[in-house]
Amino acid sequence: MDLTTITAIGRPRERGDLPQWQAGDAWLAGGTWLFSEPQPGLRRLIDLADMGWPPLEIGAEGLRIAATCTLARLAAAELPPAWRAAPLFGQCCRALLGSFKIWNAATVGGNLCMALPAGPMAALAVGLDGVCTIWTPEGGERRMPVADFVLGPQTTALRAGELLRAIDLPAEALRRRTAFRQISLTPLGRSGALLVGTLGAGDFALTVTASTRRPVRMDFPGVPGAGELAAALTAAIPDAVYYDDLHGAPDWRRHMTFRLAEQIRDELAAAA
Ligand SMILES: Cc1cc2nc3c(=O)[nH]c(=O)nc-3n(C[C@H](O)[C@H](O)[C@H](O)COP(=O)(O)OP(=O)(O)OC[C@H]3O[C@@H](n4cnc5c(N)ncnc54)[C@H](O)[C@@H]3O)c2cc1C
Repeated sequence: MDLTTITAIGRPRERGDLPQWQAGDAWLAGGTWLFSEPQPGLRRLIDLADMGWPPLEIGAEGLRIAATCTLARLAAAELPPAWRAAPLFGQCCRALLGSFKIWNAATVGGNLCMALPAGPMAALAVGLDGVCTIWTPEGGERRMPVADFVLGPQTTALRAGELLRAIDLPAEALRRRTAFRQISLTPLGRSGALLVGTLGAGDFALTVTASTRRPVRMDFPGVPGAGELAAALTAAIPDAVYYDDLHGAPDWRRHMTFRLAEQIRDELAAAA
């Protein structure tokens, strides 16, 4: 939709072009959310499209995903065969049930910064030990685990004027075996629960998203027993943390979280 309050658009090509941040500014990535509803508080959009960040950088340390990398590009990534977590990329991208137009415009950074409970990039990045690189308006940089970045529905750890530059996934996490489960109330609905399990040399981790207000990550020294996992879920996710909106009631989300978690435990226990 037209955003009738916008009076200026910035098109920076490098960091030095970024304008001084003002009230009423917003970073524009794919625009799939920004242009989907009225934004009465906004006056200026700062379009990141021309920053020219390489969408994906594969190195010995792991994978760097630019904030501006689209979901379509991420889903099509050709990753080293040793990175057994590769199937998780397509699974998480497909969990955002948009048309090809949305897929080709929506970005990884936009999805994380939206911080919707059903944001599948949070599931991917928290599940694979992702670390955010954030540019500060003073010209500096800070890093934090993605697990600490998403704080709640449409709330992140970004301060005014900060820009998410990239997400780094370490090679060690990318080598892990993964399991993925997702459910929606309707066939084309938003995720009501989306869980990711990973299995490393001996460690097991479970990331719960969509059913909860923010991602919840649990780590175990090995594959836990069914009772141990259920007890850990009960302890880690108080009832008030289960999300409530038209995509699912909290008691249904809680039920599905336990059920899908057990399926993941079972799948990865068999692989171990
Ligand atoms: C049909 C449809 C289905 C959708 N389904 C889902 C879904 O299942 N799950 C879901 O999570 N979302 C969904 N969305 C919402 C939205 O499309 C996605 O969250 C998308 O990934 C947002 O990315 P974008 O690049 O388009 O962000 P934009 O719309 O450009 O920006 C979103 C917000 O993030 C900020 N932002 C963007 N990039 C940065 C950055 N690098 N640093 C700091 N701030 C930044 C913007 O200022 C804005 O506030 C859906 C939207 C549509 C239209």
